[in-house]
Amino acid sequence: MTDEHELINFCCEELEDAVSSDPEDALIEHDSGLILLNLGHREEGGETGIVLATIRFCPFCGTEIQTDEDIEAALGAVETHD
Ligand SMILES: [Zn+2]
Repeated sequence: MTDEHELINFCCEELEDAVSSDPEDALIEHDSGLILLNLGHREEGGETGIVLATIRFCPFCGTEIQTDEDIEAALGAVETHD
């Protein structure tokens, strides 16, 4: 069996193992191809949502995995709220 990762070149096995498409996990591979850090649930205005933060550097080995430009480009492709 071979595992194929088409969107992201992982810098290390720790990151590859940690990133999941499950939105409940701590590190999430977003539809845009970005890796997002899940900061947990936050209740705001009576609604509970998941707070996500973009990260530039791998939390395990410190490699830059996505630049500000990557993040902006990916987020620009996603509809944002004003
Ligand atoms: Zn790494």
